[in-house]
Amino acid sequence: MTRDTTTTVNPSGPSRDYTVHRLSRGGALVSRIIHMVALTLSGAADRLFRAVLGSGNAKMRKTAKLLSACTPHAWRGLSWSLPAVSTCAMARRCKAYCYALQGRFSATTVALAHVQNWHALETLYALGGESLVTDTIARTLTRLTLRGRKFSATLIRWHAAGDFHRAWYARALSAAVSRASVECASRGRLCVVYLYTKRIDMVRSGLLTANAGPLPSSGAVLRVVQSVGGTLDHLIDYDRPHARVFGTHEERKLAGYVDGNDERADIPAIVGETRIGLVYHGSLSASTVGLKSSRTDNY
Ligand code: SF4
Repeated sequence: MTRDTTTTVNPSGPSRDYTVHRLSRGGALVSRIIHMVALTLSGAADRLFRAVLGSGNAKMRKTAKLLSACTPHAWRGLSWSLPAVSTCAMARRCKAYCYALQGRFSATTVALAHVQNWHALETLYALGGESLVTDTIARTLTRLTLRGRKFSATLIRWHAAGDFHRAWYARALSAAVSRASVECASRGRLCVVYLYTKRIDMVRSGLLTANAGPLPSSGAVLRVVQSVGGTLDHLIDYDRPHARVFGTHEERKLAGYVDGNDERADIPAIVGETRIGLVYHGSLSASTVGLKSSRTDNY
């Protein structure tokens, strides 16, 4: 409304000018209120989001330690998850014996945190749409990466449990990482967000990019690994990073996949390896979940 003063003033009549002037003042007031509400909202959104971005598990700590030993950065590891299964629309057999419903994931506090995360995300979207989700994630990534002096790089495992349940969420995360990159780079800090996804449709359509190649020295990057075993396997680009689950390490080695489990923790996904082999480590036996030597994929 304030733009009206320059575009619609009628030079022939003072009464018209007066009306426009009043409209302009009213518009300025409304826009100030909107701005204040947006600021309050974004502050609340930041708190809502940050409260549920958890410190990483033992694997994350191991990965951060390994990265600290082989890069110029000192790394910290964090993670963000959503409820498993219910957000994994393109998962197939793994829903029946999901690792994210077993072990430490089965603790009530962990399961509740994942529900809280989902709630935070949906609340942000309901309040301010995709742009508020993007802003909030971008601010969170930037603040976490720039926080303190002990760590110069931050590693975030996105979706230790869960997957992208909405296109706006995938778009928001991609945009947020790009946005955070500018400030992180200007301060010489590095933020790496990495994830495995069965939303191959989102990778195919460009919402998410499965990229290989060395890490930059600063900025923020999103590492996306296509996860084999979902309903959209026929869309996977096997020349780009993808992960396949095997019953044993012998089967993984025979198929020519690097170890994405133990020895190098999550480093293959982070540095952009193309063929990543994960060995099933849930509490059920490999044969129970159908990972016999005769079948080493489609977990
Ligand atoms: S995609 Fe992962 S988190 Fe989702 S159901 Fe399958 S194993 Fe569980």
